[in-house]
Amino acid sequence: APDTPSTEALDVTPDTRKVPTELIAREVARRRTFGIISHPDAGKTTLTEKLLLFSGAIQLAGTVKARKSGRHATSDWMEIEKQRGISVASSVMQFEYRDHVVNLLDTPGHQDFSEDTYRVLTAVDSALMVIDAAKGVEEQTIKLLNVCRMRATPILTFMNKMDRETRDPLELLDEVESVLKIQCAPVTWPIGMGKNFRGVYHLLRDEILLFKAGEERADQEFEVIKGIDNPRLTEMFPLEIEQLKMEVELVHGASHPFDLDAFLAGTQTPVFFGSAINNFGVREILNALLDWAPAPRSRDASVRAVEPVEAPFSGFVFKIQANMDPAHRDRIAFLRVCSGRFERGMKVKHLRLNREIKVSSVVTFMASSREQVEEAYAGDIIGLPNHGNMQIGDSFSEGELLQFTGIPYFAPDFFRSVRIRNPLKIKQLHKGLQQLGEEGAVQVFKPVHGGDLVLGAVGVLQFEVVASRLLNEYGVDAVFEGTSISSARWISSDDKKALADFERSSAGANIAFDAANNMAYLATSGVNLKLTQERWPQLTFHATREHA
Ligand code: GDP
Repeated sequence: APDTPSTEALDVTPDTRKVPTELIAREVARRRTFGIISHPDAGKTTLTEKLLLFSGAIQLAGTVKARKSGRHATSDWMEIEKQRGISVASSVMQFEYRDHVVNLLDTPGHQDFSEDTYRVLTAVDSALMVIDAAKGVEEQTIKLLNVCRMRATPILTFMNKMDRETRDPLELLDEVESVLKIQCAPVTWPIGMGKNFRGVYHLLRDEILLFKAGEERADQEFEVIKGIDNPRLTEMFPLEIEQLKMEVELVHGASHPFDLDAFLAGTQTPVFFGSAINNFGVREILNALLDWAPAPRSRDASVRAVEPVEAPFSGFVFKIQANMDPAHRDRIAFLRVCSGRFERGMKVKHLRLNREIKVSSVVTFMASSREQVEEAYAGDIIGLPNHGNMQIGDSFSEGELLQFTGIPYFAPDFFRSVRIRNPLKIKQLHKGLQQLGEEGAVQVFKPVHGGDLVLGAVGVLQFEVVASRLLNEYGVDAVFEGTSISSARWISSDDKKALADFERSSAGANIAFDAANNMAYLATSGVNLKLTQERWPQLTFHATREHA
């Protein structure tokens, strides 16, 4: 009988849940959610592994790397990922350290696949920038830092590979300041480099941490010597210590002292030197993350700001991953908790669809496996299995109408037109592209005047991923071809007449609509884009759009 209350309706509801606010406040305060940003090969994988080693989340070195090279299948849910040995899909690792709960959001490092990376950064509260000290600031670092800047995310910096011949440390700081436009506050300073790398000097603690090579070290076995003037140092390496004293004087004179507020405002980055592979300098980074990086903060949800310590649960989806388990057709929506306490089995409202769902099966991502979550707080990431009804940017709450902001789509740099070999599969093609578009795997544009669909991506590898998934998941053999399109801009204007005129003009032939039905202009060249913008000053051409 339809009116009989189901057992679900008898379950805990928001009104009857008594969640002590002190408990929530305590849990929020001990959480740190961060991501690592780096150019490929700077050492992100190695550092991730060492961070997990410290926490005891993994016992053995090599686990993360093995996953990366495809020998473990934890995150290698797709053939293409295995073939290339790169992490196409990001994942989440949670571990405890010093009574804190750390959520490390992994990001795909490959330069050809960065849209996902961008969006993962909207779900973190701080970021760790890893720089190869031999190479300095690289292209991908610049792009990722710019994304962090959109939300003024606090950044810690790790200068890696000091056991190699690197560039001059002062020059490295200078490059970070001038290229990335962020103030550097060195916290540790290297003593020598390469074969003569002796360790680091902690500028705030006046301590020297002696370097010892060794890959498998899990714990801090490095000797600490107190005081830069300690005679033992002069005995051990007279040359390097003289050099260090000179440099420290320079550093004190020329660089900025660490300023917590400037760091939290995203305008200054504390800089650490070390060697991830030798597990050297990694603990300092982890401690800085716990001591200085922010716990979850309030988030804009359009109607108001939501505080993490509020009792009602809320959160938003920043990433969708399909078919992690090839045996199921499920997709997993990665939700960042923004407030309250999530409990398995509770009911939450999917606000875009105005639908209440009971979340009984949720996954969290421990370092080595996917596990069931029992509870989660602001800063935590939970995985919601679904059949395609959840989209990037969707907000969830216990009922209040919220829409978390700040999940960006980036104007693609690469374009392909897509057609199919078998016209009978047109429906499957559209369904597949619709879903892959919603998932954020690729951006799909439908030209207003018909013709083949146009796919846009931030990196060309995305096309390969889409082609392989269309074939494997939707049985569609699609042909991707080059197009004359070179860039895309989303268009908006308060001037309805100007918009209508634009649609009717000759430029109107280049209009297309994306998967969320936003109007975009597909430009054939930089010049074409510039001219069109000049000709239509009443319109705004956006290089990013927010999911709404
Ligand atoms: P990712 O692409 O940023 O994830 O970089 P990886 O962690 O895979 O590291 C790239 C390469 O650099 C690997 O061969 C690592 O062994 C090496 N590497 C990482 N950290 C260090 C380090 O501190 N010193 C040296 N010499 N090599 C390192």
